[in-house]
Amino acid sequence: MNIESGNKMKRRDFVGKTMIAGGMMAPAAGLMSPGPQGRPVPPDEEIVIERAVAGRPHEGKVLAVIQPHCDDIAYFAAGTVAKLIHEGYTAYLIRTTNDDAAGSGSSYGERVLNNEKSNEAFARVMGFKKVYDLGYRNHRMDEYNIQEIKGRLIFLFRLLKVDTIVSFDPWDHYEENPDHYVTARAVEAARWMAGMGTDYPEQLEVVDPHPVIERYYYARGPQVFNRIVDISGFIDRKTEANMAVIAQGSGGHAGSNLRKRLAAEGKKLPLLGNDDRTADFNYIKNFMLDMYSEQMRGIPSDRELGKYYGLEWAERFRYFGPQKSGLNDYISKNAVKL
Ligand SMILES: [Zn+2]
Repeated sequence: MNIESGNKMKRRDFVGKTMIAGGMMAPAAGLMSPGPQGRPVPPDEEIVIERAVAGRPHEGKVLAVIQPHCDDIAYFAAGTVAKLIHEGYTAYLIRTTNDDAAGSGSSYGERVLNNEKSNEAFARVMGFKKVYDLGYRNHRMDEYNIQEIKGRLIFLFRLLKVDTIVSFDPWDHYEENPDHYVTARAVEAARWMAGMGTDYPEQLEVVDPHPVIERYYYARGPQVFNRIVDISGFIDRKTEANMAVIAQGSGGHAGSNLRKRLAAEGKKLPLLGNDDRTADFNYIKNFMLDMYSEQMRGIPSDRELGKYYGLEWAERFRYFGPQKSGLNDYISKNAVKL
């Protein structure tokens, strides 16, 4: 874990105290019930609050963001991805499906093109360096040999020298979309194998083994999470990222379309403002990411989640960082000259 600004809390401290280091207020009884954040972490596991960091501490590091569909990261993790890019990561976007079964368009081909354009628009808003489309058929990822998907991801992780990934949680419960869990399982296996020289050795003629060290896994269902990321400074970027995805999902032009429909009925919602852009922005930020988050994207409100942890806006993850090298630490502390 190289986010030094994180506040680590033991669950027992969290339950027993209302004030922790840094002045953050935490509800004393919060972890006795699921609350807005879903399922609490197992006993004694730390919840880390990852806050914004000044400067560019991740300069030189590489982030790979993997999504099955063009709207997934925008929905679930765009605040954190925007934060990591702002803090110095060079980021690549990998979309595993061609999105041919979802979104606007009356034919497979139209949908593929419209979703590809939305994926590119999302990548531009976020600041990704490059987009990779793996092109598997939408909702049909079960029919592909997962080993083939893993092989392609291993090559990309090695080629790009990926340090950190953001992806669906392969251990999520109750996920209904097969593209989500097939992608998640392939990513998790690939990041593990990418560092071993014995897997796909022929690749080593053009790339080196490269382990992926850090993982941020997001989920739709109840999740055993251990990291809360403060996205207060990036909520507007997340909103704009969802505005860019016009081909599918609950964002895009939903706000301006609603404003037009109401106007035709001689009505208006003051929250949607007086122009299309304001309507789209306010619809996503207020309705989709907050008030009707559960209905529109299947997870708790980012604002409610933040409020629970004393933040303005937040996202949650199952996070894995660098392994502690216990024996090496012991050797460095205890080894003496012969
Ligand atoms: Zn999806």
